[in-house]
Amino acid sequence: MVSYLPAKPSLFSLEGTPHLPDYPALKGCRCKCGYVFFPRQRYGCERCGRFGHDIEDIEISGKGKLRAFATVHRSDSENYQAPYIAATIVLDAGCAIRALLDVADESSLFIGQTVYSTLTVVDCDERGRKIADLRFTPVPLDVEGSAGRRGETS
Ligand SMILES: [Zn+2]
Repeated sequence: MVSYLPAKPSLFSLEGTPHLPDYPALKGCRCKCGYVFFPRQRYGCERCGRFGHDIEDIEISGKGKLRAFATVHRSDSENYQAPYIAATIVLDAGCAIRALLDVADESSLFIGQTVYSTLTVVDCDERGRKIADLRFTPVPLDVEGSAGRRGETS
């Protein structure tokens, strides 16, 4: 198995959760009130204001649904070569995140589509080790089975 270095180790793991082991997990938090958020922060819960020991670090499964997406045709960042597709994804854990999609174009995408976290190699370090960053990708409906309810919006 090829091993990677995570581009942003504070944001995601290379491994998945026990619940969804094949897809990289996101590093978030859960408040005692049940609210789940990403990324981790120490300012407190955005819903109820609790902080400190009332908030635990959790690994969030890398599965969710597309809420919105757009092709970006011009990039000011050297890290992202345009065109690329940026998306808002509502993770099954309940929180909405912004992420890039690992797809060639948006022709096969639709709102409500199930997407999974994945890794893409973005660079190598000075020792030649591959550095992987987090992306999301749709899984074909026939692989996904009943989880894919085409056209569903949430
Ligand atoms: Zn809370």
